[in-house]
Amino acid sequence: MVDDSGVKKLKQFVNDSKNIVIIPHHNPDGDAIGASLALYGVLLQMDKNVSVISPNSFPEFLEWMPGAGDVISHESDKDRAESILSNVELVFFLDFNGLSRLRTMKASVENLTCRKVMIDHHPGPEDIADVMISEPLASATCELIYDVIVKAGWKDMLTKDLAECIYTGIMTDTGSLSYNSSRPEIYHIVAGLVETGVDKDKVHKLVFHSNSFNRMRLLGHALGQKMFRLDDAPAAYIELSDKELKEYDYKPGDSEGFVNYPLWIEGISVSALFMEHPDKIKVSLRSRGTLPVNKFSELFYHGGGHLNAAGGEYYGKLEDAVKIFKEELPGFIKSLSKDQQ
Ligand code: 5GP
Ligand code: MN
Repeated sequence: MVDDSGVKKLKQFVNDSKNIVIIPHHNPDGDAIGASLALYGVLLQMDKNVSVISPNSFPEFLEWMPGAGDVISHESDKDRAESILSNVELVFFLDFNGLSRLRTMKASVENLTCRKVMIDHHPGPEDIADVMISEPLASATCELIYDVIVKAGWKDMLTKDLAECIYTGIMTDTGSLSYNSSRPEIYHIVAGLVETGVDKDKVHKLVFHSNSFNRMRLLGHALGQKMFRLDDAPAAYIELSDKELKEYDYKPGDSEGFVNYPLWIEGISVSALFMEHPDKIKVSLRSRGTLPVNKFSELFYHGGGHLNAAGGEYYGKLEDAVKIFKEELPGFIKSLSKDQQ
């Protein structure tokens, strides 16, 4: 899937550089962290001076990943992150394709004059790197990282640990191969990872079955008390206030996957999750079929993403973020061509 000329240039950049920084997007997920740690592990074996700098912290359910303890949070360790960035020769942007996805770290990255490589699977890339490996058909950035590692001739550095990082990204971005995973290539990659020794059942358990007691109770509350349907669109949503999140001792990552549940209701093809944080409302959107929730997010929530999985933010009251969804979604659906609805 990844083209040879991009990999050749990327390899040349790596050969020419000693100080390398890998950057995932803000609120990094399993794919962003998995891709970053896999590449990190390979570059370490080449004796590179390499760091992973994330705009903010990552969810607890990814802490088991090999190398996770080395990830530097720009938000909480800014001086260290800035000092590393001041000497960087090559940066990798992983799992995002526009600098706004770095949120508070954007200002520190946009003026970097070093070489840049982007590896990503979101549609509509901005011109942010010298090498742009952008494949919207890929299920996950981790799929592209695997391809890059193989095509660059680095496969013998792909240890079982690093293969588990890659498998995590594919698993989390496809809901354990339940959506966005119909291209046969992905199963060749999974086969390659399992051959490398990945214990896929263990990874599944570590990511999906290691919930805190409070997260499970919050899920119960969300589904039981805070999920609603729209009258005039095939949509449902969950809203959680800051007060409710505090009651359940919310930690980043605790609401991961909540947005998928409304789609399990018969007849529902769009779902949303609204979470009130002190400074903003975080919005997550999902859809089935060809209904482009990324467009809806761009229009109303300063966001974007994939056709069926998008996110954004709203600066205002929780009730107003929800009101926009309820009032604008029916018209948005009507405005789409028949084959997109
Ligand atoms: P989530 O709902 O899990 O936060 O995000 C789902 C997908 O939407 C992510 O994989 C990412 O592609 C995209 N996304 C989430 N938040 C934002 C955002 O603020 N801006 C943009 N452009 N995309 C986002
Ligand atoms: Mn991804």
